Amino acid sequence: MKILDRSGRGRSASSDEGESTAAVRLDDVTHEYGTDSGRFGSGNDRTLTALRDVSLAVQPGTIVGLKGPSGSGKSTILHAVSGLLVPTSGTVELLGTDLTALSDRERVRVRREHVGIVFQRFHLLPSLTARANVALPLVQAGVPRSKRRERAVELLEQVGLGDRTTHLPGELSGGERQRVAIARSLSTDPDVIVADEPTGELDTATGTEVLELLTSLGDDRAVLVASHDSATLAIADDVVRLRDGMVIEDAG
Ligand code: ADP
Repeated sequence: MKILDRSGRGRSASSDEGESTAAVRLDDVTHEYGTDSGRFGSGNDRTLTALRDVSLAVQPGTIVGLKGPSGSGKSTILHAVSGLLVPTSGTVELLGTDLTALSDRERVRVRREHVGIVFQRFHLLPSLTARANVALPLVQAGVPRSKRRERAVELLEQVGLGDRTTHLPGELSGGERQRVAIARSLSTDPDVIVADEPTGELDTATGTEVLELLTSLGDDRAVLVASHDSATLAIADDVVRLRDGMVIEDAG
C-alpha cells in the first residue's frame, strides 16, 4: 500500500500558499518532552515544552531555513517532519498526509519513501564504503543489489565523488563525508530533505560547497534546513525564526 501518491508532486501552482499541496505543513504543533517517561524518568511528571503552536509550510521546489539558538526547537521540528517523533498536539503533513494520524509502521514507510535526512555529523557507517553507505536506504527499500550499486555510483558522481566510491568514510575529508551523506539522502529520490546543521562540522569554504550542492537538489524537492549559520540560511527562500520553541518571525 502506498500512502502518498507521487503524482501529487508539484501541483501547487494554482493553489494558495499553505494549502495542502505544500510538501511539508505544520499546523499548531506543540511538543512536550518527558510526558512518556523519557529523559526525566518515570514517576516524575516534569515536562519540557520544546515547541509551542508552531505553524509553517514548505512548498515543493523551495528551501526553508529554521533559524534559532541552540535549544529553540529546530531539531524537534525536523524530527516531527521526518516522523521520528509525534508531537503532543497539532498536525504534521507531508504532501497532504497527516503523519500524526498514521501508525508507527506507516510513518516509518513514509519516512523511507519520501524523506531524506542529512545530519550535522554525517552518520555514515565507518565500515562501509561510500557506495555502500549511499546504497543503504535502498536495501531497506528492497531494491536489488545491482540496481543499488548503479544508483549509488550515479549519485556519488553527481556530488563530485565518482572517484571515491570504494573509499571508507575514514579515508574522506569532512566535506566529502557530508557529500556522501547528501548522496545517501537522495538515494530514494525523496520529496523532502531535512538537514540539521549540515555545515556545522565544516570550514567555511567546504560548507559553501555543500550548500551549493543542497541548493541544486532538484526542481520539485522541498528542503528544510536548520542552522544558526548565516551562510547556510542565505540559501533559503524563506527563513523561519524560532525562540524557546515559538516562531518569532517568518521572514518570507
Ligand atoms: P535545537 O535543535 O534548536 O537545538 P531542540 O529541538 O534539540 O533544539 O531542543 C528543544 C528543547 O527540547 C531544548 O530545551 C532541549 O533541551 C529539549 N529536548 C530536546 N530533545 C529532548 C529529549 N529527547 N528529551 C527532553 N528534552 C529534549
